[in-house]
Amino acid sequence: MKAITFEGKRSVAYSGADDPGLEQPTDVIVRVQAAGICGSDLHPYHEREKGLDHGTVMGHEFVGEIIEVGVAVEHFAVGDVVFSPFTTNCDACFYCRSGLTSRCTSGQLFGWVHEGAGLHGGQAEYVRVPLADGTLMRVPEGVSAAAALLLGDILSTGFFCAEQAGVGSLDGNSPMPAPGGTYAIVGCGPVGMMTILAAHYLGAGELFVIDTIPERLATAKKLGAVVLDYEVDPVVEVVRDATEGRGVDAVMEVVGARPATELAIEILRPGGVLSSVGVHTDERFGFTALDAYDKNLTFRAGRCPARYYMERLAPLVRDKKIEPEFVFSHRIPLSEGVRGYEIFDKKLDGCTKVLLEP
Ligand code: NAD
Ligand code: ZN
Repeated sequence: MKAITFEGKRSVAYSGADDPGLEQPTDVIVRVQAAGICGSDLHPYHEREKGLDHGTVMGHEFVGEIIEVGVAVEHFAVGDVVFSPFTTNCDACFYCRSGLTSRCTSGQLFGWVHEGAGLHGGQAEYVRVPLADGTLMRVPEGVSAAAALLLGDILSTGFFCAEQAGVGSLDGNSPMPAPGGTYAIVGCGPVGMMTILAAHYLGAGELFVIDTIPERLATAKKLGAVVLDYEVDPVVEVVRDATEGRGVDAVMEVVGARPATELAIEILRPGGVLSSVGVHTDERFGFTALDAYDKNLTFRAGRCPARYYMERLAPLVRDKKIEPEFVFSHRIPLSEGVRGYEIFDKKLDGCTKVLLEP
């Protein structure tokens, strides 16, 4: 088959890869109809995350049709159109049962193969999905392939980030701080944009969105946020002026770089929450234990349990209460995936997210 494979620092290729086959009785094989390029793909692409084998099929966001089913698979059949979280899930371990599906004890991340072990990704014509019963969901009628793909990763991550921040809760019981508070999102890439949708849906009052890329800030403004360019605007001053000098109630950090965390801490009020979904690969982090003490900080972070979220969010997408597809600026053939990486990475041509079609 053809696939986008990792070939070394800042190098991916559209090349031949082995057709995946059933390896376990709980596997299915999916013919990919749409795959996404994610900011998380850029970490191994730049080798900020190290250890990815050359030749690994990239990608962890995909939608497609099941073409082969292992003998132990109970809930799916050939012909089902399915979407997937970015990690596999057993649906039986402590973490899967408690909703932290991203920490499934037998879960694997798509598109991560290290020293021969791991799971190839979805930026390909075909992908093997282990633990299919616990991992996949059928795409509901009325949900587009693009939206289903987003449910499997970044839309879920946006809601995870906003819920962790205490903006509100999909189940109606908000922890802290009170709904209607003042919040900030640091980073307005595709995940930041999904976090804006989530924060508004969950009832955020005033919402600052901070980035420096004009088109991205323009989108945030259209979505109703107060936008700030961290390279031009006096961000800390503006935020303090808007909050009687305190800072915001919670910051959602959606970048994955130290300066973003430093800014987040600066604009956060004492007693506030820092909710971080950025994947941080720097050796030093953006605040110290003493900073945390001095702020009475609540810090929440981690990999989104997408399987848990996508189930709860799919009905909201089906009913058009959330419409996330606008985030795709580019829909291109899989064969042009190398260019897709380049424009997404360098933010060329107004690129906010790329959908690849095999
Ligand atoms: P992206 O690279 O397109 O977006 C990052 C944005 O942050 C860019 O628009 C950039 O201009 C902006 N930025 C950079 N430095 C900044 C700063 N100091 N202050 C404010 N903005 C700044 O990536 P994305 O696809 O939106 O992903 C964002 C992060 O989320 C990545 O680290 C990705 O790995 C992570 N992610 C995490 C999960 C999870 O489960 N936790 C899931 C998906 C993505
Ligand atoms: Zn992702």
